[in-house]
Amino acid sequence: MAEHLASIFGTEKDRVNCPFYFKIGACRHGDRCSRLHTKPSISPTILLSNMYQRPDMITPGVDAHGHPIDPRKIQDHFEEFYEDLFEELSKYGEIESLNVCDNLADHMVCSLTLTLIPAPRFVHFC
Ligand SMILES: [Zn+2]
Repeated sequence: MAEHLASIFGTEKDRVNCPFYFKIGACRHGDRCSRLHTKPSISPTILLSNMYQRPDMITPGVDAHGHPIDPRKIQDHFEEFYEDLFEELSKYGEIESLNVCDNLADHMVCSLTLTLIPAPRFVHFC
């Protein structure tokens, strides 16, 4: 039995633990999910939910006033954000990966995952 439970942990067959949360640390059902969202007690990777604010957040390619945005400006906006964030986070350790999710679903939109190799003086990040 224990072997069977271990083999299905975090998969679609697991009726207790949420497979989406297990794989990506987010689930479209959020707190209303019928399955458990188990947060790891320790991890080199953290999720920064909805951190990047796209200039065309409401409608892709259009600003909040309904005016079209030049795709190059959207790209420049993102690159400036990414460079600023990368520079700031580098103060806390070596960045192994920094990914920005381009998914438009509410639970994932503009979220970041960060994997950091802490510097020796690293104490607390959040
Ligand atoms: Zn879930």
